[in-house]
Amino acid sequence: MSRSPATGRAFRKSVPYTLPKLTDFSPASLDKAVQDLLSALESESQSVSSENAAKEFRDRWVARKNGIQPQTADWLKTAPKEAKREVGQRVNEIKACVEATVEATQERIQGGSSAAALESERVDVTLPGIRRPLGAEHPVIRTLNETVAVFRAMGYSVAEGPEVETDYYNFEALNFPPNHPARDTQDTLVIADQENKPLRDRLLLRTHTSPVQIRTMEQTKPPIRIVCPGKVHRRDATDASHSPVFHQIEGLAVDTNITFSDLKGTLDHAMKALFGSSVKTRFFPSFFPFTEPSADVAISCIICGGKGCRTCKQTGWVELMGCGMVDPNVFEFVKDRGYDPAKISGFAFGMGVERLAMMKYGIDDIQMLFQGDVRFLEQFA
Ligand SMILES: [Zn+2]
Repeated sequence: MSRSPATGRAFRKSVPYTLPKLTDFSPASLDKAVQDLLSALESESQSVSSENAAKEFRDRWVARKNGIQPQTADWLKTAPKEAKREVGQRVNEIKACVEATVEATQERIQGGSSAAALESERVDVTLPGIRRPLGAEHPVIRTLNETVAVFRAMGYSVAEGPEVETDYYNFEALNFPPNHPARDTQDTLVIADQENKPLRDRLLLRTHTSPVQIRTMEQTKPPIRIVCPGKVHRRDATDASHSPVFHQIEGLAVDTNITFSDLKGTLDHAMKALFGSSVKTRFFPSFFPFTEPSADVAISCIICGGKGCRTCKQTGWVELMGCGMVDPNVFEFVKDRGYDPAKISGFAFGMGVERLAMMKYGIDDIQMLFQGDVRFLEQFA
């Protein structure tokens, strides 16, 4: 301590504040220690006038290592047991005060430069905005919806079922004999660890939407007319015409006196509705376990009009669907629901949606539909 020559009053040389070690933990002594700290904090804050100084100020007060505020933990450590509560409260108050002051100081210093930042980031509202492309139906979903709409117009309703099916619904109730090649695990993706269950309860990813037909017949008495659109799964290697996941639409009509000519008329109408009135259909014999007789349906190639081209392999015809009259054995599984094969009959058909979409839009690789390439997809927007 020295004396001012001018006034003779005692003045303190400007020594930077350091946190004192406390020995006296009485409330009065604590009050004074806190007061000293806060006034040092306040006056140092006021003398900060540059960004560098603000940074130094911040480091001096709150740096984890050797910052003044973190050091107040020593007060708490050295306090006798009975004073700890009181000291803890002060230490918390100091922490809140220091943090608020450091923040306020920084804001005060940056205030000037943030005005400049605002100026440089000014938005020109006359510039054109960012145009967000609108979403659109995927060509597969669009084809699926269009096909369903064709059948709805003929009085069909839509039925849906689970993608994870039991062996019973996917195969057994559809008249697949136990050793039928289509049941082979080569073609079917099965859920693991099912070996302890009976075969008919084992789960698999449905290989067709036909299980929905059985499920619907269990719930609904005849007559019925339904289409079952949905995703199906097969263990197929990917190539230009195969994908392990694809979509099917199957249909089922059951009533008294349903005949094969009803089936032909229905599908011929549907293909004309989808591909244009000049499209012809052709039915030729085939085999499916759940229909008898069964047929494959081809339409006249819409690309060459039936003259022969690469898509139709020069035949003028493109195979698009399977169909047939429901096998009486299938009705036996739902006989108690009113499906007596002696009294009723019906037809079923199924088509691959991707196949329809490829034909409709002239797409020659099924993978294009699944790769999610926007350049390809935006052509359908
Ligand atoms: Zn052709």
